[in-house]
Amino acid sequence: MMTRTRTESTGSAIIRPEFKRAINTANQILQELGNPEAPICPYFIANKYGWKIRHEQLMGPDGLTAKDIRNGKTKFVIFVASDINQLYSEGTLKRRQRHTIAHEIGHILLHSEYDWFDLEPEIDQKLEVEAHWFAAQILMPDYVFKSIRDLDPETLSDKCDVNYTSAKKRIEKIDDKIANRLIQDASTFFTRGPAG
Ligand SMILES: [Zn+2]
Repeated sequence: MMTRTRTESTGSAIIRPEFKRAINTANQILQELGNPEAPICPYFIANKYGWKIRHEQLMGPDGLTAKDIRNGKTKFVIFVASDINQLYSEGTLKRRQRHTIAHEIGHILLHSEYDWFDLEPEIDQKLEVEAHWFAAQILMPDYVFKSIRDLDPETLSDKCDVNYTSAKKRIEKIDDKIANRLIQDASTFFTRGPAG
């Protein structure tokens, strides 16, 4: 868990991210899709909900989402940076972009009521953390953890098509109940043997 302390110089209060809400929203979307097997495709999700994805030069961020309100209807366009391509290997870039899109989907589903381009820094931080949690949950939902091997970042990153660091962080924050179940399953297996 990342912890932040109050900084005395600014005195700005830390606003606690709504982790549960981010996780529940991701789970709800997956459920609507029939809990698909990993790797989960964020392009498919965006497409299903009618959000366009465009690759453009963003001069800094990995991604951003624009809101277009016309005739009382809100449309979202997800922009993915095309000017970071040379910084990563093809495989890393592909996984990074999948994460970026999942993160932006999180903003659309969790934060559509905010004016994204005019946020107080404390609010901005809260929304970023929530979007990261959403992305981690939708790309690596609880149900993909099927055996103790999935608690290995390398295995999980290949299974879910995410970068190693994302997989490692997801495992670090996994629900104890899931981890314990996987460990217990494995120990039963090793004591009894595969034939039972
Ligand atoms: Zn963000």
